[in-house]
Amino acid sequence: MDPFNTRDGHLYAEGVALTEIAERYGTPCYVYSRAAIEEQWRAFDEAFAGAHHLICYAVKANSTLAVLNILAQLGSGFDIVSIGELERVVKAGGDPANVVFSGVGKRTDEMQRALETGIRCFNVESREELQRLDQLAGHMGLRAPVSLRVNPDVDAKTHPHIATGLNESKFGIPITSARAIFAESSTTANVDIVGVGFHIGSQITDMEPFLDALRRLLKLMEELESEGITLKHIDIGGGLGLRYHDEHPPTPAEYGASVLAELEGRPYAIVIEPGRAIAGHAGLLLTKIEYLKHTAQKNFVIVDAAMNDLARPAMYDAWHDIVPVVTGRIRSRERYDIVGPVCESADRLGKERELSVRAGDLLAVRSAGAYGFCMSSNYNSRPRVAEVMVDGENAHLVRRRESLADLMAGEYLLPSYPNGTCA
Ligand SMILES: *Cc1c(COP(=O)(O)O)cnc(C)c1O
Repeated sequence: MDPFNTRDGHLYAEGVALTEIAERYGTPCYVYSRAAIEEQWRAFDEAFAGAHHLICYAVKANSTLAVLNILAQLGSGFDIVSIGELERVVKAGGDPANVVFSGVGKRTDEMQRALETGIRCFNVESREELQRLDQLAGHMGLRAPVSLRVNPDVDAKTHPHIATGLNESKFGIPITSARAIFAESSTTANVDIVGVGFHIGSQITDMEPFLDALRRLLKLMEELESEGITLKHIDIGGGLGLRYHDEHPPTPAEYGASVLAELEGRPYAIVIEPGRAIAGHAGLLLTKIEYLKHTAQKNFVIVDAAMNDLARPAMYDAWHDIVPVVTGRIRSRERYDIVGPVCESADRLGKERELSVRAGDLLAVRSAGAYGFCMSSNYNSRPRVAEVMVDGENAHLVRRRESLADLMAGEYLLPSYPNGTCA
């Protein structure tokens, strides 16, 4: 299902016209479809129905409370990478018992809070982290459930900034030293080793790197079994890509079927950590054209959204479809770069796009539901934008636009200033 459909030349989010959303909430704003989020989550759930499995949505892809709450209501688990993400999951009604905690730099206070809430497991990424967790759990009189994140040394064939499974990356325990650490960890007093996992990168559009990593871990698990170490689960991470432009990623059903075929009925539970593939197509960034600027070399559409609102094009050279919200008006088509007001040449949402538009028109930057708002910043002192969730015929504000007062909240002048505040 495409939650964003065109009726009489107007783009809709489910049953609500985007022109109406722009009028009510202003631009720029992110618009999400509840139905699309649910449908993608269910697609993963059905794809793995043949095995004992837990979908742990990767919170970092879109950590807005309303999004987490929708997933919590479906019974989703969550993959977190910071204590801030854990508090969001708890606030959104998620069950800590279904939370896995990833990341190379977990602080002691973060581990402590995660132990207190009773998370499902820590995805431990180094020997040093394992030792720290063991000590802390001992102090707290608790046992820490642990899954070791192994770096399988496979090339995910994705953008270098989002590849994490090569042996030069900071992530995971090198597969060559994994056995030694497992052997050691069976002697740590306060840690229960429950699983093993990998996460090799993001926006992966080919099954082969996943299957390659999976085979390497299954071989490791066999070796461990022969040494008397039996694990309950295998965590295959996230990373399934989307079709942003001309990619052909596997569907969740194809992905699930290939993984289950590779597992051949082995009795492990499977943990899956999809982020992008659940939220990505479920959102768009709605923006208004301020100016059309024509120069001898190039034409520019200057919009009110910018790289601080959606970083992916500037950061990863990523493609997003950019379409007019109202079509069918007769205007000449021209080739434009779509740029924002931020004072950086990298502030470009799209390059050389054919559009027939004029100033004041609305544009939709598609497939912006993942790594969109959550990566936005206040650069150029731009308040972060509003987020709207559409549910059938209704649109709901799920995060208000930041005000100028919000921008400066929490700042102080030096004490030598009278009263310590500005006029
Ligand atoms: C980012 C991340 C994910 C999610 O990746 P997607 O590409 O959004 O599916 C899953 N697991 C870990 C450990 C991550 O860091």
